[in-house]
Amino acid sequence: MNNNKVLEIKNLGMTYHTLDGETKALENISLDIHRGEIVVLVGPSGCGKSTLLSIIAGLLKPSNGKVILNNREVKNPTKDIGYMFQRDNLFEWRTIRNNALIGLEIQDKVTEDAKSFVESLLDMYGLDEFKDHYPSQLSGGMRQRAALIRTLATKPDFLLLDEPFSALDYQTRLVISDEIGQILKKEGKTALMVTHDIAEAMFT
Ligand code: ADP
Ligand code: MG
Repeated sequence: MNNNKVLEIKNLGMTYHTLDGETKALENISLDIHRGEIVVLVGPSGCGKSTLLSIIAGLLKPSNGKVILNNREVKNPTKDIGYMFQRDNLFEWRTIRNNALIGLEIQDKVTEDAKSFVESLLDMYGLDEFKDHYPSQLSGGMRQRAALIRTLATKPDFLLLDEPFSALDYQTRLVISDEIGQILKKEGKTALMVTHDIAEAMFT
């Protein structure tokens, strides 16, 4: 049972200290996520969603509690976690293929196998004809799909998605949120998504 747990969040608390005073962003958060689960947390803007994801990703040190990924405490950023943001952060001067490869380049893992995995993801998820295009030639929804493929390319064990669709218009959001839900399930991913938008949360 226990080895089925990918992520354990234990009594997490976070207080920001600034010149103006203190902001308590998180208090006593505990949550387990099991392999293959896609968990969505919904909450209003400012309730601490991005703070939570930054702590899980090891980018921010919590004031209290801890995060355990595959039985090891997360203390620094780890390549086992893929992080997808509201904005796609694609590089405009790189083709879609080269954007999708960037995580592998950074991790120095651009093997033939890895390259063909990226090609297959692009083919499978509707970007086969756009591999040599630049981001500005794609719709918002396609850009977000390319961003997801870039995140999947390094085969992270666990995915974090921070309001990944909220920069898109309503129609696109409905379509792409459904598509991304399908992709995550098809690839058998374990994921935690946060959003302020109930409609966005219904994607699974
Ligand atoms: P959400 O992602 O749900 O909108 P955030 O995690 O970004 O919420 O922020 C939670 C609270 O913490 C907010 O009140 C925000 O103003 C505060 N906060 C976020 N980041 C910082 C920071 N770097 N320094 C001080 N306060 C912050
Ligand atoms: Mg946020």
